[in-house]
Amino acid sequence: MKLAEDPHRRLNPLTREWVLVSPHRTGRPWQGQLEKVAVHREPEYDPTCYLCPGNSRAGGVVNPRYAGTFVFDNDFAALKPSGPHDRLDVESRGLIVAEGEPGLCRVICFSPRHDLTLATMPTKDIENVIRTWSAQFQELGAMPQINHVQIFENRGAMMGASNPHPHCQIWATRSVPDIPAKESLGQADYRRDQKACLLCDYLDLEAKQQTRVICQNQGFVALVPFWAVWPFEVLICSRRHLGAFPEFTADEVIRLAEILQKVTSAYDKVFDVPFPYSMGFHQSPTDGEPHPEWHFHAHFYPPLLRSATVRKFMVGFEMLGMPQRDITAESAAALLQSLCTKQM
Ligand SMILES: [Zn+2]
Ligand SMILES: [Zn+2]
Ligand SMILES: [Zn+2]
Repeated sequence: MKLAEDPHRRLNPLTREWVLVSPHRTGRPWQGQLEKVAVHREPEYDPTCYLCPGNSRAGGVVNPRYAGTFVFDNDFAALKPSGPHDRLDVESRGLIVAEGEPGLCRVICFSPRHDLTLATMPTKDIENVIRTWSAQFQELGAMPQINHVQIFENRGAMMGASNPHPHCQIWATRSVPDIPAKESLGQADYRRDQKACLLCDYLDLEAKQQTRVICQNQGFVALVPFWAVWPFEVLICSRRHLGAFPEFTADEVIRLAEILQKVTSAYDKVFDVPFPYSMGFHQSPTDGEPHPEWHFHAHFYPPLLRSATVRKFMVGFEMLGMPQRDITAESAAALLQSLCTKQM
């Protein structure tokens, strides 16, 4: 099988889902939707932004004049901390089933500056953001009803981010959501069968092949995973086998800040626009059990495909069968790798 030419499917060992790769189609003409390019320079402070220091939010709460990061409970939280968590199962047939889901939603502003992003913030400030993520993970994870803490960032209007002010969200839930639950199972089964860690072993293989690694430092490796679904999808893994932010050394905080800045800056160079994406960290569940199978990582899922205006859609066969991509993970990695090196 020629991975660069023949249609094939690739396995994601974390979720055990497949992705169809059709490299022969990359020359296909595009006549679909064009997204508007919105390159607009943001001001350092925007009086209408509900995240800027000193401004008021929905409901009249006024933000403090914060100087570093700023954390608050989401005014439009999707979850509530208390409430019933009983189970409904009509006639016990497992067909009409519901469970209460207590949880918390928080917002973290990365910086008082409205115009910065992870790509343009000084790495010292990103280190501060990482320490805030760690403290939040610890605080929320320690709550007895919270078994999973999901930290994620939506960047860009294309990803539904309603505000350009650099910020992320945390949704902490009683249940472990489907994707981390699948990855937990994938990692636990691998550990049981191979007596090793899935992502530690995967990093070993990637280090040997060197075809999908885009940049690395003493603490972390960023690569386009073999099973990437999104055109420029990136996985960042810690080199050390660890499960969550609170296990980081001081040096790992610095190294993660560096690699986050590197990857997001490379993204902004792909089509010369601020690159939209959803990103987030997958960390061990906070259910009080030891999770030796878990290996800390971050996923970046950017939607752009061919230009600043042409995005990938997940429709048709992808909604009904499995995801599909044309450009291979290897060619996306080659491009991102060249952009990572360029900035040095
Ligand atoms: Zn703002
Ligand atoms: Zn590991
Ligand atoms: Zn994951």
